Amino acid sequence: MRRWAPIAEHRNCARHIYANWKKHFSVKEWQKLFWRCAKAPCLLLFNKARARLARETTDGAQAIINTHPEHWSRAWFRLGSMCDSVDNNLCESFNKWIVEARLFPIITMLEIIRRKVMVRIHEQKKKAERWMTKICPAILKKCNTYITLSGRCHAICNGESKFEVIYYDNRFTVDLDRKQCSCRYWQLSGLPCHHAISCIFFKTSSLEDYIASCYSTDAFNRTYDYCLNPLEGMNGWPASDSPPLRLLVMLGCQEGQRRRGEGIPQKVQRAQRCLRWARSLGVQNASRLVTTDQHVRRDLLHPLKVVLIKFLPKAVHLTQKLVLKQLPLTRLVLLKHLQLS
Ligand SMILES: [Zn+2]
Repeated sequence: MRRWAPIAEHRNCARHIYANWKKHFSVKEWQKLFWRCAKAPCLLLFNKARARLARETTDGAQAIINTHPEHWSRAWFRLGSMCDSVDNNLCESFNKWIVEARLFPIITMLEIIRRKVMVRIHEQKKKAERWMTKICPAILKKCNTYITLSGRCHAICNGESKFEVIYYDNRFTVDLDRKQCSCRYWQLSGLPCHHAISCIFFKTSSLEDYIASCYSTDAFNRTYDYCLNPLEGMNGWPASDSPPLRLLVMLGCQEGQRRRGEGIPQKVQRAQRCLRWARSLGVQNASRLVTTDQHVRRDLLHPLKVVLIKFLPKAVHLTQKLVLKQLPLTRLVLLKHLQLS
């Protein structure tokens, strides 16, 4: 990361950090305290959240420090990114979105993704046409939570654009002209925090002017301004003059060594691979997947793939050795759906 993107901020997914931390500190009530640490926008609030956790579990609070919270707690996130995300949901959603496409060879995979993107651009454009607000509705919905919390804030003005806000036993300073709050959340996310909202409503009733422009409907429309041009099917593509690609010998396979499966017909190799894979899943009567003349029963394999994709998004390399051995649930699902037992 440091080499290829030296100025990029590097965050870790707090959900994954929590999953590891939970292995040793699994009490349900501590979960909320952990997330308070992750979502604390400044060091003051992080330390307070961690102190609360330390009252419940000293070891747990110490373990949090050992996981380098500067990579997963908002308290250390760089200002100006307009992104307060502490988890990796964005990537997870994208991976889920393309999981079926990833099953296919590279050109087909890219074709499926291209068509999905085309449909998405159209849908997003249509959706935005119905919006009547200056700011995107999802953002306004998020702001509603802070508006509710702002009712607990007590703001006093210095006569210009600066305020002091008391929220329970904390006091923060807000500068409306510079769009800053000392809790850092406003600068970090571009959305005014509850402290700032109490000051905005002290001065005016319009919240939209204080929300970062990247959340506006205009910015949303600009994002989907460019369409993809429709493309003919592969049969209509021009033929390439380049010589066909040669199969590369992979590293680690030295000349003269016997390769696995060498001398065995490809059809038989495929059948063997299929059987190994099915048996590793614990599928009983796996031999039914292969006919007596070594043909793989694709009609049986197909539903098997669908079930796997549905329940195990990561299991995309279906004919390779799989990571499913440790998942008894899969076996149940397979047996139930395929009636192979
Ligand atoms: Zn604030």
